[in-house]
Order: sequence, then C-alpha cells, then structure tokens
Amino acid sequence: MILLPENVSRILNVLSGAGFEAWAVGGCVRDAILGRVPGDWDITTNARPEEVKALFRRTVDTGIQHGTVTVMLGKEGYEVTTYRQDGDYSDHRHPDGVVFTTSLAEDLKRRDFTINAMAYHPDAGLVDLFGGQEDLKNRIIRCVGDPRERFDEDALRIMRALRFSAQLGFHLEDRTRAAIREFTPRLQLISKERIRVELMKLLVSPNPGRLMDMAECGITREIFPLWDTMLATPQSSAFHLYSVGVHTMKVIENVPPEPVLRLAALLHDCGKPACRTTDGGGRDHFYGHAPKGAKIAGEFLREFRFDNKTITDVVKLILHHDDHYPATRENVRREMNRVGEELFPSYLKLVLADNLSKSGYTLGDFMPLYKRICSLHEDIKAAGDAITLKDLAVKGSDLIAAGMPPGPRMGEILDRMLDDVLADPSHNNKEYLLGKYLG
Ligand code: ATP
Ligand code: MG
Repeated sequence: MILLPENVSRILNVLSGAGFEAWAVGGCVRDAILGRVPGDWDITTNARPEEVKALFRRTVDTGIQHGTVTVMLGKEGYEVTTYRQDGDYSDHRHPDGVVFTTSLAEDLKRRDFTINAMAYHPDAGLVDLFGGQEDLKNRIIRCVGDPRERFDEDALRIMRALRFSAQLGFHLEDRTRAAIREFTPRLQLISKERIRVELMKLLVSPNPGRLMDMAECGITREIFPLWDTMLATPQSSAFHLYSVGVHTMKVIENVPPEPVLRLAALLHDCGKPACRTTDGGGRDHFYGHAPKGAKIAGEFLREFRFDNKTITDVVKLILHHDDHYPATRENVRREMNRVGEELFPSYLKLVLADNLSKSGYTLGDFMPLYKRICSLHEDIKAAGDAITLKDLAVKGSDLIAAGMPPGPRMGEILDRMLDDVLADPSHNNKEYLLGKYLG
C-alpha cells in the first residue's frame, strides 16, 4: 500500500474516469516503498498529450515532444507522460525518436533500474515486472534487461547507478557493475552539465564514500582523473596517515552535506600531487598546495559549468584552508576580511574537518587554537568590529567632501584606513581617520 498525495490521486482519478490507464511511476514509487519522501510524483498514462491537456484546466507543455505535460494543481506541477518506448540510441545519449505505445510494460522496460521501473495505482496495486521490490529489499541497483545494452544506449545511466547507490546506500549488482566497467569510456559523450548534476547528488548524499567505488569502476578516470591522481599520491609525514585521496574522502565525510562545503572538501588538496617534494629524510612536503589547488579547482569547476558564486566560494575556501596564524582577535579579523564574513563559518567547518582527518599527531595543538579562533569570531561578530570597506566609518563621498579628487588614490586611502581599523577597531571613527590620513 502506498499513500498517494491527494493531488496525485485526483490526477489518477480524472484519467481513469475518462477511461485511460494512469499510474504513479518511477522514483516516487521507489521512494514511497522505502519510506522516503519522494521529491516529485511522476505519472504515466496511455492517454496522448492532447488528451491529457483536454482533461485538466491548467497544463504546461514542459516536454511535449517526449510526451510530457505538466498538470498544475494550485502551485504544484505534476508531470504526466504518455507511455513510450525509446527508439535507437545512435549517439549513445538520446533516443533517436520517441515512440508512444499503449503498453505499460513497454514503458517500464525502457527505464534504467529495476527499483525505478515500478508503477502503482490504488485500485490495481503495484506493477513490478523486473523484481524491483526484491532489489529494494536486498538494497541492490540492477539494470532493467541486459546491462551492457542499457549503458551502451545511454552512458548517463552509469552516473545514475552510482548516484542512486550513494543516495540509498545500495550496492551494484555484479553484471551491472561489470557492464559499467566496460562502458565507462562512453562517459566522454555525456555533457559536463549532466555529469555535474549526478556528481553533486552523490557528493551531498549520505554516502559520498561511493566516490571510491566510482574510481574502482573506472568512472573517475574518465570524468575526473585528478581523483585517481589524488588516490595515488602518498603523504609520508608525521601529519598524515593516508594518501591525499583517502584523506580527502575523510574530509568530505566530516563536513556537512552542503554543495559548497562538499566541493571544497573534495578539491581542497587537489594541488598536492603537483606540489609534492620529498626531503632527504623521506618526508613529503606540499609547499604552495593551497594556491595551486585553488587554481586547479577553479579550472575544474569552470569546465563543469558550475555557477560563478559556487566557483568563487569554493576557490576561496581552498585558497585559505591551510592558513596558519596565532589566535589573536586582530588575526581573526584579518582572516575574516580575506575569506569574507559570509563564508567564514564554512571556512571554520572545513578547517576542522581537515584537521580531524589527519593523523592526530597535531590535534592536541590544533584543537585549543581552533576553539580560540571560533570564540574570537563570535566576539568580533557580537562587537560588530569593522571587517570590510562597507563597515568603515569613512566613505568615498567623505573623501570627496574633504576635497579629494575621485581616482585610484581614493581607493588606496580607504584601504589604508581599513588596515588601521582591522588592527584597532576603536580607530573606526570619521574624525580620527580623516585627521590621520588626510591631515
Ligand atoms: P530523483 O529522486 O532523483 O528524482 P528519479 O528516479 O525520480 O530520482 P528522475 O531523473 O526524476 O529520477 O527520472 C524519473 C524516472 O525516469 C526514473 O525513476 C526512471 O524510471 C526514468 N529515467 C530517468 N532517467 C533515465 C535514463 N537515463 N534512462 C532510463 N530511465 C530513466
Ligand atoms: Mg524524479
């Protein structure tokens, strides 16, 4: 028994009442059986798009060429898609054409995994033609039909397999895994955007450790070879017990599942392979790895078309993740100025996770320092100490009023004033600053 939201029942009833077959299908059925809250409810029907549109007052042609109409009930939209079977996949990405069918079985057969290929209607019950319930019970990701054919048709399914395994904590069935191994080179045909979407779902899931499985299957070698390089980069030093990759994996698991933090964790040490030197005593050093990593990470994020804010934030976190300074209030203000106030809490989380994921050798020194920095950060916020130019008591307009011509010199003066105020917040008043810097 699956409890359908009222709107979904209504849509099924309207379609059934008009003599059509209609089912909740795919991810929502899977999630409902698992007791997870489905993100969206999809409906499949033998009604043609025009027939669906005729039955509902408000619809949107979201994917009409694929047979999908979005039915609007209040503010909510529900995708209603006509039963289809896919044509050939000559580009290994998209079906050449969409063929409508009158058979629910055909529609379910084109779906990727057994757990995603079940349909439900309150009167007819569950339609499970490929052992989806059994695989849910055994926590297995298994292709519908021959896995080699399915990955050959559409290599994005390789990313989806690993992403579902991470989201649900499931394992790959053996033949599915073997076919993934064989078809990973096909990932080169998939757009970076679509790969990014799946990679991010995996990264913010409860099991980001499936990245190791991705490497094991040969997926990262195709889409993110830097990860294989990190896994192969040893760190022989008193500070570390693990390779760069294994340490990185721990940092990812030790930060909250937010996109920027998980990405920053993923890439924080990506500069290390290029910066590794080994001294006469056999110890490894990674001088300059933070700026190097920030540069490499920026290139990676742009290649995968991340939005600018994400790129800026992740790059900043990487650039500063290894900053060292004595825990004084002035130093914390200056670090807040460099990192940015908004990003500072994320920076603190990354720094903590990074240090908790090392050998423990330096943890005794780190923890008191870290706690002091956190408490100074709280004090600074509570006191409202100036951190950036917008907090400065003097504005550009004050300099102009005092007779200064606009130009680069104005910016320099404001920067010097801010530097003064970062050292001593009591200097943040107009008379003092104007007197000292314009007098
Ligand atoms: P999510 O919870 O992430 O939305 P989902 O299973 O609903 O997971 P969607 O991408 O929303 O995934 O797709 C809905 C359904 O369409 C899937 O459950 C599956 O049946 C089918 N599907 C989606 N993408 C593919 C694909 N590349 N190949 C085959 N079937 C697919
Ligand atoms: Mg979905």
